[in-house]
Amino acid sequence: MERMVKQTLENLVELQRIDEALRDLREARTRLAGIEKENQESLAVFDKMLSIVADRISETANFCREKEDEIRDAEANISRSRARMNTIQSQKELTALNKELDNARKSSQARAEELSKLQEQLKGVEVDHQRRTEERNKLVQDMRAIESKVRDEITVKEAGVNELQDRRKALLGTLSRELVSKYERISKGRNGQAVIAISTETCTGCNIAVPPQVFIRLMRMETMEACANCSRILVYRPAPGAKDETGSLSE
Ligand SMILES: [Zn+2]
Repeated sequence: MERMVKQTLENLVELQRIDEALRDLREARTRLAGIEKENQESLAVFDKMLSIVADRISETANFCREKEDEIRDAEANISRSRARMNTIQSQKELTALNKELDNARKSSQARAEELSKLQEQLKGVEVDHQRRTEERNKLVQDMRAIESKVRDEITVKEAGVNELQDRRKALLGTLSRELVSKYERISKGRNGQAVIAISTETCTGCNIAVPPQVFIRLMRMETMEACANCSRILVYRPAPGAKDETGSLSE
């Protein structure tokens, strides 16, 4: 009978460990989904910003082309005015033509200065775009690294999941229906933690001291004990490295 209680307690501890491992897997999956969603959103914001910069590039490039056209027109006007120089017949005409030439040169000069400013702007926006693109690529790289790390964790956890579920079923089969429903009830009410393995006189589920007489019974492992405060099932486990009563080293 005592032997059976001890085995039941061992099974409960193992069941609790399995349930925690399964919960870890569920949480890792939820975490991955959250990370992927967040990354996607950050990237969308980044890409929106990049496309605004790209629009500015094409807008500025268009202004440059317009300015170049205007300069070509002004240069053509100058050429035409010069060609007319040979046909000049009066001082008045010459003065008028010179004035025309002067204006055309001034206009061409002004356009050239505007073009130069625009080209400078264009270069600045292009450098900005290049820098942001590099930042984006680095960001994507970092995001993928984080995602794949969590994904690898999940893959490792998933590899053992069938075995855990089989073992879980087998363990449940060794427990009475009453104990299983007690386990499930406490688990639901206590954040998935129905069984607490303790090595000192404190319930680590709620951090309340376990009375010495209860702790003595716990060490004997001949009875089922629960925390008077949080109702979790308590099971004694020697601290890692400590020797139990049989003298063998515990895990
Ligand atoms: Zn407790």
